[in-house]
Amino acid sequence: MSLKFLESENMQNENIMNRTFASFVNKENIGQNLTLIGWLEDFRDMGKIGFITLRDMTGNFQGVLAGEILSNFREIPRQSVIMVIGSIQDTRAASFQTEVKVQSVKLLSRAVNPLPIDPTGRVKSSMDKRLDSRALDLRDHHISSIFKIRSLVLNLIRNFLCSRMFVEVNTPKIIGSATEGGADLFGFEYFSKKAYLAQSPQLYKEQLTLALERVFEISSYFRAEPSHTVRHLSEFVSVDLEAAFLDYGEIMDIVQDLVISIINDLFAHREKDMALFYNKQEIKIDRIPRISYEKCLEDLKGLSEKLEFGDDLSDPALKKLGEIYPSFYFIVDWPTKLKPFYILEHEKKSELSRSFDLQYGNLEIVSGGTREHDVQRLRNKLVEKGLDPKSFSDHLQTFEWGMPPHSGFGLGFDRFMMIITNSTNIREVVLYPRDTDRLTP
Ligand code: ATP
Repeated sequence: MSLKFLESENMQNENIMNRTFASFVNKENIGQNLTLIGWLEDFRDMGKIGFITLRDMTGNFQGVLAGEILSNFREIPRQSVIMVIGSIQDTRAASFQTEVKVQSVKLLSRAVNPLPIDPTGRVKSSMDKRLDSRALDLRDHHISSIFKIRSLVLNLIRNFLCSRMFVEVNTPKIIGSATEGGADLFGFEYFSKKAYLAQSPQLYKEQLTLALERVFEISSYFRAEPSHTVRHLSEFVSVDLEAAFLDYGEIMDIVQDLVISIINDLFAHREKDMALFYNKQEIKIDRIPRISYEKCLEDLKGLSEKLEFGDDLSDPALKKLGEIYPSFYFIVDWPTKLKPFYILEHEKKSELSRSFDLQYGNLEIVSGGTREHDVQRLRNKLVEKGLDPKSFSDHLQTFEWGMPPHSGFGLGFDRFMMIITNSTNIREVVLYPRDTDRLTP
């Protein structure tokens, strides 16, 4: 008999609606007839009897086939989508509680053979090959778990910030002028004008504090930096926050509470998922130390990495600091000249700014600080940084409408996910990464 009889043209919707998910089947179902749908992960043909492993979004289940069903089954390529109907019975298999004795099989969608990569992960493929077939790559349980946890973390962040009275906002990503100055913007033609893709929501989120007080935004931003690293992408997701009447110390408290609550929540309630990434609870934090930029210079001096005050912390310097502080730590009070024009300086020590970065080892996750809210000083700052206040007139005028003192941060969400999933390359935690070489799929 040809396989055609299995290839259903009039799929019975009722059966699909009545399907049971793999992980919901247990010993209480023994004796019942159930419909299960999934991707054919494995087929072991023992001659008179065959075993299949089918996978759905909840897990795997085992089916046992015999007779005509088994002989027809031999033609079905792995990773095809099939629907099986059968009775649930006890099993001797160690990794399953029960199995389904298959009474009928329908091939719902045939997969090509061979596939471009092995989605079971048994045969390893290069990162490039995997990204070229990303939708298929996600059938690997470890990889799909990264994105399920990513979705969960987004929810946790939203819940945490809403519980602290922050309002979620959406600001434009098509903008008419450079947000912070600098050359790393993607420009394009916008009708008859020149437009850019936003590199951050910095100016908008500051403006919004004058009416909404506390705002946050989770969105993609774009940087035209030709970086070839494992921590930079041309398009990345950032969690941005801005709050009126809070100082950078209080903003660091928020970052600390947010990070600790998420990590502890994941290790406490998603143990099984986290075990995919860590052997045990390897990240343990109850507070995040605050280390001044100047103390970092001293630490580095002791490690024969000599930097002068005002030097940026280079990659080798951050690597050495990461060896002293392998977990989360803040670097606070950066030299004013290293920070953007909108960061406020210390009143009595203007060479230092009210700023911080959150690091995890050598990886920068968050950048934040108290903002300058005095319009005249802000104009002067723009000039000092070589920027033209006229190009910021829309922004500057809002500072004359009762702008509150305010502070905020930007958290690189993809980098945060690298830590949560113990990934060494940002491309592992982004579905369709964009970098200098990759624009597809
Ligand atoms: P870096 O020095 O690592 O290039 P940055 O100082 O340019 O980062 P900010 O402009 O301060 O970064 O942005 C805030 C946060 O956004 C960073 O701490 C980082 O987590 C994230 N981020 C910035 N640029 C990128 C990028 N190209 N790819 C991924 N994440 C990024």
